[in-house]
Amino acid sequence: MKKFSVGIIGATGMVGQRFASILENHPWFDVKVLAASSRSAGKTYKEAIGTKWTITKPMPKSMKDIVILDAETDIEKIGKLVDFVFCAVSLSKEETKALEDKYAKAEIPVVSNNSAHRHTPDVPMVIPEINADHIKIIEAQRKRLGTKRGFIAVKSNCSLQSYVPALYPLDEKYGVEDVLVCTYQAISGAGKTFDTWPEMVDNVIPFIGGEEEKSEIEPLKIWGKIEGDKIVPNIKPNFTAQCIRVSVTDGHMAAVFVRFKDKPSKEEILDIWKNYKGRAQELKLPSAPKQFLHYFVEDNLPQTKLQRDLEGGMAISCGRLREDTQYDYKFICLSHNTIRGAAGGAVELAELLCAEGYMD
Ligand code: NAP
Repeated sequence: MKKFSVGIIGATGMVGQRFASILENHPWFDVKVLAASSRSAGKTYKEAIGTKWTITKPMPKSMKDIVILDAETDIEKIGKLVDFVFCAVSLSKEETKALEDKYAKAEIPVVSNNSAHRHTPDVPMVIPEINADHIKIIEAQRKRLGTKRGFIAVKSNCSLQSYVPALYPLDEKYGVEDVLVCTYQAISGAGKTFDTWPEMVDNVIPFIGGEEEKSEIEPLKIWGKIEGDKIVPNIKPNFTAQCIRVSVTDGHMAAVFVRFKDKPSKEEILDIWKNYKGRAQELKLPSAPKQFLHYFVEDNLPQTKLQRDLEGGMAISCGRLREDTQYDYKFICLSHNTIRGAAGGAVELAELLCAEGYMD
């Protein structure tokens, strides 16, 4: 496979830094452009970041001296340097949509971390292990935009990437009807560290703005079907969610209660999790975990600190599956919110789009 030249829009942010770190030495992608706001444009990456580098691994040497471009005014220049861009910017929904549309219309495909386009009916919202077939809607989107190459594809919210992967494979055979989920979410999900959010040390905050709605509604688009020129969300499963911010740097955990149409045995659930493979595994995408769903038999696992980095932070950890007195079963899930739930998930989506010919 030829190497693709890529850009990171929002490269100085928390997710942007994670993109930079994941893309260092990527077998298919070469980072050629780093872009951010006009505040950072013109500075080298090293200067623009200053002391704001939040990843444990040091800043990639190959990117330190790249001069940051202006994400809003340098689009034409960026288009000449890259095959596609990753986007993670902190702008309003309308501003983000307008910026991503500008890139797509300039024939620069956008793989986005932002939520702005998640409910645009012809924008695929993809977890490559689950609904890889949704990328076929890109043809309809290109028609609407009047583009040959340009399009927008997004990844879903980070919280649902812990529990949807465990539930989706069970649906075909047993019918997932009702799901109650409580998430315990890391502070990096808010773009923060303990230095920038000291109130979170030794604390729990029972509110994350907009998160419960996203956790209940976004799975229905992932469960949806392409009908004509749009993805029509499914009406099932019924989700109800409470999302809680906890005193953890990285890693979102979820406590899940589920009711099925036809209740499987515990062994049947474990068997499906063990053997589940998605398109990402079939295509052997570089970022795809070998085993998507890992089940831990120990009562005190998975733990955020111990399992979040499993398979490079791209695998989902499950545990404590047992029958419930009100629902059929309850269990625990965990995923890395800034890797699987953000930059890593977007890189895997870009790999899928390349492998399926959408970046040619
Ligand atoms: P962040 O740390 O605040 O970084 C924001 C980035 O946007 C910076 O690079 C910033 O550049 C850039 N930016 C701001 N205004 C801009 C403008 N007018 N034009 C171009 N670029 C501009 O935010 P983040 O936590 O990385 O989040 C970025 C996006 O990813 C958000 O939409 C967020 O909801 C989403 N997301 C975050 C997570 C997570 O775990 N943190 C997970 C999933 C999705 P300057 O440095 O020059 O200001």
